[in-house]
Amino acid sequence: MGERTLAIIKPDAVERRVTGRIIRRIEDAGFTIRAMRRVQLSKREAEGFYAVHRERPFFASLTSFMSSGPAIVMVLEAPDAIRQWRTLMGATDPAKADSGTLRKEFAQSIERNATHGSDAPETAAYEIGYFFAGVDLA
Ligand code: GDP
Repeated sequence: MGERTLAIIKPDAVERRVTGRIIRRIEDAGFTIRAMRRVQLSKREAEGFYAVHRERPFFASLTSFMSSGPAIVMVLEAPDAIRQWRTLMGATDPAKADSGTLRKEFAQSIERNATHGSDAPETAAYEIGYFFAGVDLA
C-alpha cells in the first residue's frame, strides 16, 4: 500500500469544466483514486479545512472562493503520494509553476489555482479525515 494524500479540484476548475482533464492526468501519473466525491463547502467548512491559514491575510478571500461553488475531493494513493501530487500540481502561483504542471495549465491566479494537495503526512491525515470516513477507504 502506498502513501495517501488529499487532493481537491477547486471550484475554479470545476466551474471551467476541466475536472475530467485533471482526473485523466492524475490516473496517467499512476495515482490510484481511493475515494472521491463532489462537495459544496459552506464558508464555515472551508474555514475549518484551512484553519492553519487563519492568520494569513488572504484567509477570508480563500475561504470565500473555496465555498463559492462545488469542488471535487479525492484521496490519492501512490508511493510518495504527498510529494508526487505536489510536484504534479506545481507551484502555488501559476506564474511560477513549471511547464507540464496542472497549475501552469489550469490555474487562473495564485488563489484560483485549480488544485489542492496536502503538504505533509500530518496534514494529509487531518485533511483526509475532514472529508472521508475510514469505511470509505477500507
Ligand atoms: P499550496 O500548498 O500550494 O496550496 O499553498 P498555501 O498552503 O501556501 O496556500 C493555500 C491556498 O491559499 C493556495 O493554494 C491558494 O489558493 C491560496 N493562496 C496562497 N497564497 C495566496 C496569496 O498570496 N493570495 C491569495 N489571494 N491566495 C493565496
